[in-house]
Amino acid sequence: MASLVRTIALPLLLALAALVPFANNDFYVALGVSIAMYAILATAWGTFAGPTKYISLATAAFFGVGAYTVGLFYEKVPMLLLYPLAALIAAVLAVFVGLTTLRIQGMYFTIFTFGLAELIRQLMTWYQRNVSGSVGVYILTDISARRIYWSLLVVLALTLFGSWLLSRSRWGLALLMIGEDELAARHSGVRTTAVKVITLAATSAVMAVVGAIVAPRWTYLDPSIAFNPTLSFMPAVIALLGGMQRFWGPLAGAIPLVILFDQLNARFPTSYTLILGLLFMVIVFVLPDGILGFLPKLQRRHAPAAPAPATAPSTGTLSAPVTPAAPARHASPGVDGTSGPAPVPTPNGATLLEVRGLRKAFGGIVAVDDLSFSIREGEVFGIIGPNGSGKTTVLNVISGVYEPDRGEILFLGRPIAAKAPEEIARLGIARTFQLVRVYPSLTCLDHVIPAALFGGHARTLTEARDHAVQILEELGMGGMLAIPAGQLNFIDQKRLELARALALRPKLLLLDEWLAGLNPSEMVIGMELIESLRGRGMTIVLIEHLMQAVRRLCDRCIVMSFGQKIAEGEPEAVLRDPEVVRVYLGEADDA
Ligand code: ADP
Ligand code: MG
Repeated sequence: MASLVRTIALPLLLALAALVPFANNDFYVALGVSIAMYAILATAWGTFAGPTKYISLATAAFFGVGAYTVGLFYEKVPMLLLYPLAALIAAVLAVFVGLTTLRIQGMYFTIFTFGLAELIRQLMTWYQRNVSGSVGVYILTDISARRIYWSLLVVLALTLFGSWLLSRSRWGLALLMIGEDELAARHSGVRTTAVKVITLAATSAVMAVVGAIVAPRWTYLDPSIAFNPTLSFMPAVIALLGGMQRFWGPLAGAIPLVILFDQLNARFPTSYTLILGLLFMVIVFVLPDGILGFLPKLQRRHAPAAPAPATAPSTGTLSAPVTPAAPARHASPGVDGTSGPAPVPTPNGATLLEVRGLRKAFGGIVAVDDLSFSIREGEVFGIIGPNGSGKTTVLNVISGVYEPDRGEILFLGRPIAAKAPEEIARLGIARTFQLVRVYPSLTCLDHVIPAALFGGHARTLTEARDHAVQILEELGMGGMLAIPAGQLNFIDQKRLELARALALRPKLLLLDEWLAGLNPSEMVIGMELIESLRGRGMTIVLIEHLMQAVRRLCDRCIVMSFGQKIAEGEPEAVLRDPEVVRVYLGEADDA
C-alpha cells in the first residue's frame, strides 16, 4: 500500500514541479533550482551516510569539481560530454579518498573529508592565481534557468530511483551491515572496502553532475562559490531533518530548509552561517530521526491503544515480505549444517585446518607463541586455558582479523594467513564472537540473509531468504524472523550469531565461548545444539571455559597458557595432566 502511494506520488510530484517555470516567475524557478539541487545532494549523501554512518563533509569538493569541469572546459568540450566527464573525475577522486580514508571511522572520517574539501578549494584558488592568472572563470552560455531546473528534476528522479533500488538490493543490505558492525559484516563475507568505495564513488559522481548542471547559473565562478562549505553542511542537515534512510527524507528536509535559508539569507546575510550551525544542533537534539521519524511517534502518542508493531520499524527493508520456508532445493545432508539426517562424524577424516608455528604479539605481549595444531574433518576441537592465555587471538588470526607475525595457517591445504576476513568467510570458515555482536536494529532474518548471499551459495535474494528462514527455524527461531535483534534475550542473540555463522555453510565453525553467560537450563539447550551440529559432521573449534562442556563435546583439545600449548589430547587425559591442573589451580570455579 505504502509502496503504491509512493509509486504514484513521486511521478505526480515531479510532474507538478516541472510546471513551475510556466508560472513565469523567476523567483520560483530560482527557488526550485535550489530545492532540487539540495534534494539531490542530500539523497546522494544519505545513500552512503545513512546506512553506513560514515558522515562525509566533502560534498562541496565533489560539487565543486563538477562545477569547475564546466567552468574550465565548456568552450572546448560539448556540454553533453561535460556531465559524464565531471562524474568520472569525481568518481576517481572519491575512489582515492575512499581507499585512503575509509579505514578510519567515526569522527576522524568526518574531519578528514572536511579537510579534503578545504584542501581542494585552496588548490583551486592557488591554481587560478598562479597558473591561469585570475581569481575565477566566466561561464557564458545560453543555458536558461528553466533548462537547469528541468535537468535537475530529471537527475532528482533518477537519483531517488537509484537510491530506492539500492536499498532493496543485496548491496543495500551490505551497506547497512557496515553501519551496524563492520567486522561482523566481514565475517559474513561482505567485501566491505569494495562496497564502501564504490558507493562513495557513485554518490560523489552524482554530486559532481549537479555541480556541472548548476554551474552556468553563476556566470562567474570562483572557488569560494564552487567549494562553499555550506554545500557540505546543507545535505547533512537536510538528510537529518528529513530523516536518514527514508525515501522521502531528502525532499521533506530540502523544501522547508531551502525556503527558510533563502529567507534568512535575504534578511540576515551576515549571521546566516551562525543560524545554520544552531539549527543543525537543534535538529540533532530534537529530531534525531528527522521529521519523518517524528510523525509516527506523534501519532502513537495520540492513539495510545495501538499495539506496538511486531516488525522492524525503519531499517529492515529486505525482511518485509517473509515467504514461508521453501522446501530445501537441493537436500544436502552433511557438513553444511542445513538439513537432513546426517552421517555419523568421522573424526579420523582428512586434515581440514593446519596451524604451524603461529605467533602473534601485541606490543610487548606475546598473545600466541609458536603454536601448532591440526584439525581433522568432522571433529570437535577444544581450545581451553585460563583467561588471557591467547585463545581468542588464535581464533582472530584464523578468521583473518589479524595477520600472524610468524607461522602458517593452511585450510584445505591452502595458506590463508594473509587473507582478509571476508575472503576467509567465503572460503568456508565461520565464527561467533566471545562478546555477542549482533546488529540491534536489524531483524533476525536480515542478519542471516547476507551470509547466505555473500558466502556465495545463494544466487538470488529469494534463495538466500529461504535458506535463512530454514536455518532460523532449525535453531528454533522461526517465530522471531521479523524481530530486531536488540529485542532478543541473551540466548536468542547467541543463537542468532550461530545462525548467521551457519548461513555461510561453513566447513569449519569457530565458537568463542559460545556457552558463556548462559544459565544452567540454557546451557543444556546450548550443548544439545552443538551436539546436533556435530552429529551432522560439522567440524567445530570450541573455545570453552566449562570443563563439563569440554568433556561432553570435544573429541580432542589443546590447553593454552601464556600463548603456548601445554597439553594436547583427549579431554579426560588432558584434564588429568598435572601441568594443566597446576595452570588451572585457582580457577577451580567450574572444573
Ligand atoms: P583469551 O581469549 O584466552 O582470554 P586473548 O586472546 O583474548 O585471551 O588475549 C591474550 C592476550 O593478548 C591478553 O594478554 C590480551 O590482553 C592480549 N590482547 C588480545 N587482543 C589484543 C589487542 N587487540 N591488543 C592488545 N592486546 C591484546
Ligand atoms: Mg577469549
